[in-house]
Amino acid sequence: MVVYDVVIIGGGPGGYSAAIRARQLGLKTALVEEADLGGVCLNWGCIPTKALLKQAEVYQLLLRADEFGLKVGEAEVDWTAVIGRSRQVAERLSKGVAYLMKKNEVEVFTGRGRLTPSRNVAVADAKGTIVTELEAANVVLATGSRPKSIPGVEFDGEQILSSREAMIAEKRPNSLAIIGAGAIGVEFAYFYRAYGSEVLLLEALPQVLPREDEEIAAGLADSLVRQGIEVATGARVVEVKKQKRQIALRYQVDGEEQSRKVDRVLVATGVQGNIEGLGLEVAGVHVRNGAIEVNGRMETNAKGVYAIGDVAGAPQLAHAAVQEGIAAVEFAAGRQRPELDRRQVPSCTYCQPQVASVGLSEKEAREAGHDVKVGRFPFAASGKGQAIGETEGLVKLVFDAQYGELLGGAILGAEATELVAELGLALHLEATYEELLFTVHAHPTLSEAIMEAAGEAFGEAINL
Ligand code: NAD
Repeated sequence: MVVYDVVIIGGGPGGYSAAIRARQLGLKTALVEEADLGGVCLNWGCIPTKALLKQAEVYQLLLRADEFGLKVGEAEVDWTAVIGRSRQVAERLSKGVAYLMKKNEVEVFTGRGRLTPSRNVAVADAKGTIVTELEAANVVLATGSRPKSIPGVEFDGEQILSSREAMIAEKRPNSLAIIGAGAIGVEFAYFYRAYGSEVLLLEALPQVLPREDEEIAAGLADSLVRQGIEVATGARVVEVKKQKRQIALRYQVDGEEQSRKVDRVLVATGVQGNIEGLGLEVAGVHVRNGAIEVNGRMETNAKGVYAIGDVAGAPQLAHAAVQEGIAAVEFAAGRQRPELDRRQVPSCTYCQPQVASVGLSEKEAREAGHDVKVGRFPFAASGKGQAIGETEGLVKLVFDAQYGELLGGAILGAEATELVAELGLALHLEATYEELLFTVHAHPTLSEAIMEAAGEAFGEAINL
């Protein structure tokens, strides 16, 4: 039997990036994947939804053509083409991953991988018959996650949808209720509303995007309401009842019961790790609260077995999975490197206006005992924002008052998900407000708002 230095189960962004890094380190590497390379992110998540969201944004921009002095007549939507472009983008990238595997000499095995009692990897075909067994010095479990529903509500793929069906809907529903206002809920609310669907967005917690800064989330909620989305926070779903064509929904807000009939329900209440059938029990790998338990080196309790990405629990983001995968194989190869600092993982939501953040929110910084200085700069005061017609939102930065060190930042507005990279780097380099201020930002750019927000925190903003 061939002995591999690393066998990776799961070819999503975490798994395939780990495979490439392992090869760069000279390790003999195999990747086991049962479906399409690129995983959920590339085929059924981040990438196809970002294509859809961009298309919605373009459509919305066309509807604003007058504002830019343009007459374009009536913009029409070809729904099949809208969905089709998103699928094409995903397919193209999946082929790209196959190319990368070949180029880097990663051996790809198609099938379902699972640990054996001796911590090798058995690969089974679609019928469950074991077709090969790979002897592995190290195994990286990178099997991702799948949508999870709420009690009493089952996905049926037709009326009650997960994100997967919502991104390939044959027809645009006239009305849609979305349960859960995390990243998926908010992104689909924006997408379907942009094309004219009536959207009801229900969130159990007191704010949309509950993990984001309160002020930023409130600004986003205002914007979603202005777009015509009905937003109900503190909402408890009481019943979801399928009828012939519609779905009858009952929910409570502030103890008051409301009811609604909608064409479709999208359940976006989070994901659950794919831990089943992985041989965890026979290999003695510990699981806690549905996630494989790992330490800062992404090691499970079983020697030589690592777990990365969604299957290893929060933050369950593709870019975290990539970094975790790279870290796992570097540790497996015996390299000296720092453990991943989860506070430096940015969070991004690609509705319009976009939301992005990294590090501590104002509330978290205060709770952690920091004496805090907060700086804000609205895009309405940004020359570039005015020029390109993107004046909604703000940059909000949180500093420790004593030395002016950046603790975190959040952005609501156009290109927030691109702008946050500067904050990530600043945080990583332990930058102070002065270092952000002394960094020359090109004019006119939206990024100047970061420099200005840093100045504002210490009374040094120029354009406010
Ligand atoms: P999530 O955990 O981010 O959000 C789920 C939301 O549903 C939460 O706000 C929660 O309070 C709410 N909720 C739970 N039960 C509810 C109920 N019964 N009624 C009403 N609300 C309820 O999960 P998600 O949005 O489904 O996304 C899944 C995963 O994928 C997350 O880890 C997310 O970060 C990730 N993701 C990221 C992006 C991105 O980075 N842009 C996009 C999509 C998904």
